[in-house]
Amino acid sequence: MRATSGQHPHSTPRIVRSPGSQTALRERNQQRIIDSLLDNGPLTQAELARRTGLSAATVSNIVNVMADAGMVGTQRTTSSGRRALLVRMADNGKVAIGIDFGRRHLRIVVATVGYWVVAEESVELPFGYRAEVGVDTASKLLSRLLEKHGLVPSAVLGVGVGIPAPIDQRTGTVVHGAILPEWVGMRLKDLEDGLGLPVSFDNDANLGALAEVTWGPHGSIENLVFMKIGSGIGAGLILNGKPFYGSLGVSGEIGHEIVVENGERCHCGNNGCLETVASTSAMLSALSGQADPPHSTAEIVRDGLRHDAPTIEVLEVAGLLIGRALGSVANLLNPELIVIGGPLTALGDALLGPIRAGLRDHGMPGLGGATRVVVSSLGERAEALGGAALAIQRSDARNS
Ligand SMILES: [Zn+2]
Repeated sequence: MRATSGQHPHSTPRIVRSPGSQTALRERNQQRIIDSLLDNGPLTQAELARRTGLSAATVSNIVNVMADAGMVGTQRTTSSGRRALLVRMADNGKVAIGIDFGRRHLRIVVATVGYWVVAEESVELPFGYRAEVGVDTASKLLSRLLEKHGLVPSAVLGVGVGIPAPIDQRTGTVVHGAILPEWVGMRLKDLEDGLGLPVSFDNDANLGALAEVTWGPHGSIENLVFMKIGSGIGAGLILNGKPFYGSLGVSGEIGHEIVVENGERCHCGNNGCLETVASTSAMLSALSGQADPPHSTAEIVRDGLRHDAPTIEVLEVAGLLIGRALGSVANLLNPELIVIGGPLTALGDALLGPIRAGLRDHGMPGLGGATRVVVSSLGERAEALGGAALAIQRSDARNS
């Protein structure tokens, strides 16, 4: 404000505030806190301050007011060894649904906007099931779960669906090369009509990455790569705190990096893709000549934990190649953390050891070895939990 003539140049200008401006500012700041809690799940007050750019004192004041009004709940916790207050959105009677369509299973999670799981169920599906069968099964299971917990469909904010296939976000169709050939060309709109609820879709690995930074223990990490190793191999990326989709929505297709020259034909059409040598299907096939071969990923895990020599050898070959592919990822993106997800996570170090070695040897010297690699603590729930997080983020919960 410029001093007008006749006033002493150093006199304090009188600022006339409209009576509502303090309230408006408080409401805007409160909205920033609500948006952060919906997008990221429960956060400590310090994390809220960092994410909203508000001061710790402002966050604390607003959280107190919101807690008194029943809008948020708080809980004492520790963060990096220090006492902290965890803040989460209070239950408003609305729920978000996460659905994970696997190759042989379907998992549904029902969650509140405060990221509490209300209900969760997983069912087996026949191998090679058609999209219509998957949608029908999901629809029936979801109705049953909602009814069991006294929830009406109007309480559902939205559904986040994970599919183990690249999805062209421009056209809303499953891209060729999908691990579920029966789903190729399926219009995702059909799935929405089948469920009769607003649906958001994503690739399963993208949802795994989202779950790690919302439901998982890695909420403060800004650059994270989630790599799912299952019958397919794919990666989900969180860059600068946000999911990264690329130009078509088809990012993270690291399973189709060619790691064997003139190798086996991949379902994508190329030869020697990482998936052809390091997926769980490739591992089962590599072990099929054994006297007592494994017939499922659960049996690979069982044998690996028993230190069965042929299983350990197959895990080492696959792990080194996965680590090699991750070396390129580390060189390109320099993530703080790589999280390995999928059905093999219970193997722990038997799987991580060779992956770390491959990453160390193929990443830039110093970088590969410095990049942390862990297994997901969410296990096979990650994708469905990520689906629920996506539904919360895309819903209009922030306005209700
Ligand atoms: Zn391929």
